Amino acid sequence: MRNVTLNNGVEMPILGFGVYQIPPEQTERAVTDALAAGYRLLDTAAAYGNEEAVGRAIKNSGIPREELFVTTKLWVQDAPAQENTGRAFEASLSALGLDHLDLYLMHQPYGDVYGQWRAMEALHREGLVRAIGVANFHPDRLVDLIVNNEITPAVDQIETHPFFQRTADQELMHEHGVQPQSWGGFAEGKNDLFTNPLLSSIGAEHGKSVAQVVLRWLTQRGIVAIPKSVRAERMAENIDIFDFELTDAQMAAIASLDTGNTLFFDHRDPAMVDWLAKRRLDA
Ligand code: NAP
Repeated sequence: MRNVTLNNGVEMPILGFGVYQIPPEQTERAVTDALAAGYRLLDTAAAYGNEEAVGRAIKNSGIPREELFVTTKLWVQDAPAQENTGRAFEASLSALGLDHLDLYLMHQPYGDVYGQWRAMEALHREGLVRAIGVANFHPDRLVDLIVNNEITPAVDQIETHPFFQRTADQELMHEHGVQPQSWGGFAEGKNDLFTNPLLSSIGAEHGKSVAQVVLRWLTQRGIVAIPKSVRAERMAENIDIFDFELTDAQMAAIASLDTGNTLFFDHRDPAMVDWLAKRRLDA
């Protein structure tokens, strides 16, 4: 597995396993299969409701803790953010059965972002989390957070796939030392991604599947990818991307698929801001 080095020197695998939308009762088996397939980066969130199952799979795997890279995410907190963020972190850590996290991400750029970030900085200083970062931050919000705080986020996890490539956003992240991470790398199969003619023909040239071409394209751009699957054969397929390389011409051809638009929703859409910012996990 290849690693990227985050802005504080922490090493992070460039490919991992995401567990969004895996029901809690299926998650332990899925994570167990993913660990057996060789994944060491696991990406969950308090909002996914499956941290306990992820924790059980970790515990039962017997894999030494230092070989794993575990990410979870802070949901939007009410004020006082300092207190509530600490409580949310403790709840996640306890659900996962861990004594520290590798990466803690602010899940949404909403609410008392500064209060949440300062509480996350404190958790980092206490040694409870090796790196802190954000998700779904557009460049303006990201730069504002960087300029006004001590710690620059190590990661920004954003929707990135062949139909929404975020090239300018990633250039800006690189300029500021923020590691880009893709969520929805397969666009959850939208736009018939898995049968896309261009991606299929590039795959055929390498004897690889569309999924493998997409993950290779992301990682070749220096983007951390975290594909989700509940099927062991697809987990094995998705991690088998380090024995081929896309040519410059193939990278350029894939660039032509970019629509410049989200296939999910815009985090700046007022209706979505209202809905997400008011959502509470215990409600
Ligand atoms: P995704 O990885 O783009 O797509 C998952 C879908 O692709 C599933 O339907 C899966 O089906 C299918 N699939 C996986 N491998 C395949 C293969 N080799 N061939 C054909 N189909 C395949 O979607 P995602 O789960 O939304 O995104 C990945 C991760 O990003 C999440 O799990 C989560 O950790 C993270 N995420 C973060 C945010 C955020 O706001 N920060 C938002 C969304 C997601 P099967 O399971 O049936 O194989």
